[in-house]
Amino acid sequence: MTRLQTEALLLRSVEFSESDRIVHLLTPERGRLTAIAKGARRSIKRFGGSLDLFNHLRVQIDKRRGMARLEGAVLIDPFLSLRAVPGRFALASYLVELLDRVAPEAGAPSDLRRVFAFALAALRALSEADVTPGLRALLELQTLDVLGLRPELGRCVHCGRAPVGPGPVAFHVADGGVLCGACASRCDAPLLRVHLGTLRALEQGIEFGTARLSRISWSPQALAEALELVSRFQRFHMGIQLRSEPFLDQVVGSPPESGRPPA
Ligand SMILES: [Zn+2]
Repeated sequence: MTRLQTEALLLRSVEFSESDRIVHLLTPERGRLTAIAKGARRSIKRFGGSLDLFNHLRVQIDKRRGMARLEGAVLIDPFLSLRAVPGRFALASYLVELLDRVAPEAGAPSDLRRVFAFALAALRALSEADVTPGLRALLELQTLDVLGLRPELGRCVHCGRAPVGPGPVAFHVADGGVLCGACASRCDAPLLRVHLGTLRALEQGIEFGTARLSRISWSPQALAEALELVSRFQRFHMGIQLRSEPFLDQVVGSPPESGRPPA
């Protein structure tokens, strides 16, 4: 890559030296990339307020030597309504932080385009959403799915058989999915208990895409199970605590304390 013109989403913007900014961008062609915006702190004219979080941009990037340089940025959509509602802002901040930490920096072009398209669709859906704990669980799960971290919700991760009810079935966080009764009874690891209806709702949540997530209705029990499963799965398989999570917990609602692994 020498010169690149592309769409981008702004995942993070950090002050750097007296006059510059470092921006973290998600692009459809190159995945996640970091660039320096020279003079962005000194001259308002140069980037015209386009370097804010969530902004959908058209950018020109020069990467002929050393670190990529952001040469220009034109605002396509500032997603203003994400900033106007605390729940939307909290969940959007959480999703862009997740993408900033784990979105790929290289890979198959179709995978990179898929991650970008998902991120854009998620911010668009959130711009109009009534943000509930259920929406949080499903959007987080969809983000993990698009990043290649999808839990197995339908078949036993040890033997491939479908777990059967009635009653809750076992979910093995470390092994990434559900267990059938026989495999659960042979397993010494700590297991979550989840009803089949909760697993079906989570599977639907992945299949539905970003636009129809609010159509899934939750019983209080299914919601508590879903939040705990997604939160535990995310923490275990990503191994990071996101800075925006405490604010999201406060604004949108958090998984039950009993389900939390020790900090
Ligand atoms: Zn099994």
